[in-house]
Amino acid sequence: MSNEQPKIPQATAKRLPLYYRFLKNLHASGKQRVSSAELSEAVKVDSATIRRDFSYFGALGKKGYGYNVNYLLSFFRKTLDQDEITEVALFGVGNLGTAFLNYNFSKNNNTKIVVAFDVDPEKVGKEVGGVPVYHLDELEEKLGDITVAILTVPAQVAQPITDRLVQRGIKGILNFTPARLNVPENIRVHHIDLAVELQSLVYFLKHYSNDQ
Ligand code: ATP
Repeated sequence: MSNEQPKIPQATAKRLPLYYRFLKNLHASGKQRVSSAELSEAVKVDSATIRRDFSYFGALGKKGYGYNVNYLLSFFRKTLDQDEITEVALFGVGNLGTAFLNYNFSKNNNTKIVVAFDVDPEKVGKEVGGVPVYHLDELEEKLGDITVAILTVPAQVAQPITDRLVQRGIKGILNFTPARLNVPENIRVHHIDLAVELQSLVYFLKHYSNDQ
């Protein structure tokens, strides 16, 4: 990672992949510039926020011209480390884990699951979506220098696996189990509980109308 770029606020950083995907499509269709209003419509972020976000990138849109698509794209590529693939390990090759292995984030070319672990003898030793599945006992041996993990195991085994990952120097965990994980402060856990997300969507649909 380079230190030359200024620190971007977290909320802005979260929107980067959204901008990046849209700009890649624009570029592919031959567009050279884009206005914050066009971007706003496409990514559903208000244009004042877009202008503020882009000012962090040193991209100052010109009135009546908009933003230079190439400039933004090269900035995003550098910032999101698109040239460097981040290798990821997946734990639990069940229904959800299998779906991830088959999908393997191929549209988002900077992350790739390269190894998977399970305890089921039916799954260990096979390949799913081209990714080898090892026994959990081989975690320490096969993890290599991977620093990002996805957990799609049953909730009750999430913490012990996490503890081993922490020992092994993991930096980030995408946790799809309902378990709340205890990790040291320097390790980042993003928790995605699909059942909770779906319930909360349904709740909002029931209780709040979109146009209020
Ligand atoms: P399936 O229908 O294949 O069982 P599932 O997603 O409904 O999938 P879960 O019980 O959530 O099943 O388990 C997910 C996966 O995690 C399974 O493949 C299971 O073998 C695996 N698993 C269970 N315990 C562990 C463990 N300690 N370490 C790694 N993987 C495990």
